[in-house]
Amino acid sequence: MGTTVKLVPPQGKDRALLSRIEQEAGTSINLCYQCGKCSAGCPVGFAMDYTPRQVIRLLQLNLTDEALNAESIWICASCDTCSARCPRGVDIASLMDTLRREALAQGKISDKKVAIFNEAFLGGVRNFGRTFEAGLLLKHNLKTMQPFKDAQLGLPMMSRGKVHLLPAKIKGREQVKKIFERAEKMRGEQE
Ligand code: SF4
Ligand code: SF4
Repeated sequence: MGTTVKLVPPQGKDRALLSRIEQEAGTSINLCYQCGKCSAGCPVGFAMDYTPRQVIRLLQLNLTDEALNAESIWICASCDTCSARCPRGVDIASLMDTLRREALAQGKISDKKVAIFNEAFLGGVRNFGRTFEAGLLLKHNLKTMQPFKDAQLGLPMMSRGKVHLLPAKIKGREQVKKIFERAEKMRGEQE
């Protein structure tokens, strides 16, 4: 696909990490010529610390750590708009997903509220087969050290049946657990 942008290539460990990220995402960051169409179409770009275009630029400049520490990768809603708009065929949505997994694997989420929410949400789905709102909020609030955050919304939501004290029992709970186990196994095999 077309010509690629020439940049000073990262060396050694940095190169290996970047290659792995590109391989897992199934895309090449050097195809990006920084036109900004991805950022212009991103519905949550306004809330990001680095727009999708800037995330790619960080990687091109071998600032992988900055990209892995960015709030943007956790704010990304995986809507695929950026990938669909990119004239160079860069799969930015897949790259964002890969950066999230890499950040998790490197334990770079301790001060990231969105990442903590993400982890608590997935933990609930893994354990109960679907989201368990009360447990999710409790876990998120405790981990982010703001125990009473949104507490005033709890009772009204409960009275309207939007939040339940106990998790719902769904069919196929065990199958959902197996999906998580298989995904973790696949991740282990890739490392
Ligand atoms: S749309 Fe594609 S080429 Fe343009 S800045 Fe985004 S990733 Fe780069
Ligand atoms: S996939 Fe993520 S980065 Fe891309 S447009 Fe959607 S929210 Fe923005």
